[in-house]
Amino acid sequence: MDGEYDVVIVGAGPGGSAVACELAPRGFRVLLLDKEYFPREKTCGDGVAPRAVHALYRLGLRGELEGRFQRTSGIRFYATRGGLTEVRYPMGSRYPDHGYVVPRRELDFMLLRRARELGAEVWEGCRATEVLPQRNGRFPGVRAEREGRRVEIAARYIVGADGPTSLVGGKLGMLNRDPLFLGVSVRCYMRGAEGVRDFLEIYPEDAISPACGWIFPVDGETVNVGAGFMLYARTRRDLNVNRVFEDFVARTRHAASKLRHAEPLGRTRGALLRVGLGGSVPVKGNVLLVGDAASMTNPISGEGITYALESGRWAGETLAAALRSGDPGLAENYRRILEWHYRRYFRLGTMAIRYGNNPWFVNPLLFTTSRVTRLGDKMGRFLMNCRRSDHPL
Ligand SMILES: Cc1cc2nc3c(=O)[nH]c(=O)nc-3n(C[C@H](O)[C@H](O)[C@H](O)COP(=O)(O)OP(=O)(O)OC[C@H]3O[C@@H](n4cnc5c(N)ncnc54)[C@H](O)[C@@H]3O)c2cc1C
Repeated sequence: MDGEYDVVIVGAGPGGSAVACELAPRGFRVLLLDKEYFPREKTCGDGVAPRAVHALYRLGLRGELEGRFQRTSGIRFYATRGGLTEVRYPMGSRYPDHGYVVPRRELDFMLLRRARELGAEVWEGCRATEVLPQRNGRFPGVRAEREGRRVEIAARYIVGADGPTSLVGGKLGMLNRDPLFLGVSVRCYMRGAEGVRDFLEIYPEDAISPACGWIFPVDGETVNVGAGFMLYARTRRDLNVNRVFEDFVARTRHAASKLRHAEPLGRTRGALLRVGLGGSVPVKGNVLLVGDAASMTNPISGEGITYALESGRWAGETLAAALRSGDPGLAENYRRILEWHYRRYFRLGTMAIRYGNNPWFVNPLLFTTSRVTRLGDKMGRFLMNCRRSDHPL
């Protein structure tokens, strides 16, 4: 073995770093590994919702965020025939009254540095290739490639935080391929958009239905532009995500007019989303999945940073209890915690998006919410999974 740890975490996105930030300061031996060298690109809309901001502040990152990145005051929805609905944070909840747009190149690097500061050992450029075969009822560690060398890492617990195509989850049969829980999106940075300031802008426009597009302000000049859809929607129409993106930029009523003079900065990049908690089994023996690997993206908004940070925290807390008590059975509590917090909302969201995501419903809905502020606020709270009575977690 090339190292022995209490916990090895595969993947240093927000989910993996959040687990490391919980465990390392409690004195556990934690290895956080990622196949990339940081800072690295990650395909994302970069929208950090107030719930995620709360989780980042809790990790001590307020000073790194404030004044450095674009703050957002709420969300604007543009429907082709429904007009504009504006919803302002904090949406009645007790989460912060603002969000941010933070390029993932920066956000993930910031989290990785924090995990390191708190005592986690970090191996960049290390790709996990296998979960070692089960012995005495537990998986003893992972095999990986590091700087051209094959290494074996022993650990009492393994966390798969390696995104929607998780190697850990895939090898152990913890992922399913149900298109109800899978989506695909592309994004491109652009310069020269008109009138996009401190709101996240979401465009469920007729020309790209059942896909949805977005324009998020990254700074005074740059925007993050993207579009995506759920995979089951493909059966309804011959959908291609790159064509959808082109239609979004050129042929929508509201977005295209804002983007008519915009120039792309770099190429359009795409990625899979695993949503709604139903696309994975989050615990198998001494292996836990977090974030996208655990299918933790919000099925309505496509927002996953919040859920990667929150599930990472709960995985860390659960593992700390299991390691302290020596009772491996406690790992199962993690599944219960996820279900307690998200199952109802994610189920409702999965159904709402499946049956409500069409112009016949969206246009009248947004027409109404654009005129009745109270309904607009309710819709915004539902989308962001914030209730009036919420206490920050
Ligand atoms: C186009 C698009 C737009 C999105 N927009 C938003 C948005 O605006 N706001 C929002 O909140 N969410 C958004 N999401 C969702 C969000 O990106 C994810 O939910 C979030 O990144 C999940 O974090 P994670 O830590 O679980 O996984 P990831 O961020 O995917 O991190 C996984 C890490 O694992 C590493 N890894 C993978 N395999 C291995 C391996 N075998 N060995 C070692 N390392 C490995 C990867 O290099 C990566 O660093 C978007 C997603 C997409 C696709």
